[in-house]
Amino acid sequence: MSELKLCQGPKCHTYHTKDRLKGPKGNKTYQTRRRSNFYYGNNNFCSWVCLNDWNSIYIEQALDHFGRTTEPKHLTEQNAWTKDYDYNWRDDNNPRSNYRSVNSITKEQRPLTEAQYNDNNYTLNER
Ligand SMILES: [Zn+2]
Repeated sequence: MSELKLCQGPKCHTYHTKDRLKGPKGNKTYQTRRRSNFYYGNNNFCSWVCLNDWNSIYIEQALDHFGRTTEPKHLTEQNAWTKDYDYNWRDDNNPRSNYRSVNSITKEQRPLTEAQYNDNNYTLNER
């Protein structure tokens, strides 16, 4: 049995839906949603509304904490690499060739291994 998570929406329990109404008969309360999986905000919120509630309360603190963008960023050849994967690719002689890095400015493509593709820290971009 998978463990249930609570929605992180600060007002989740204030929305009157049948599935939030829980407890013994005569003593039911609207409660924060609890599920094994959520689809919003990196698996932390039960709905777009709950994610938005969190944002409107905490977004300023989050930006101050993690640092605001204070100057425009520039997309150049040196940081325009993205990863791409062709789901329809079939080449039994070259099974790794469906993973690649693509430069969105120069259009150059370079092959990637599956491990490089799945490694969130691997990039050709200069930092
Ligand atoms: Zn919620």
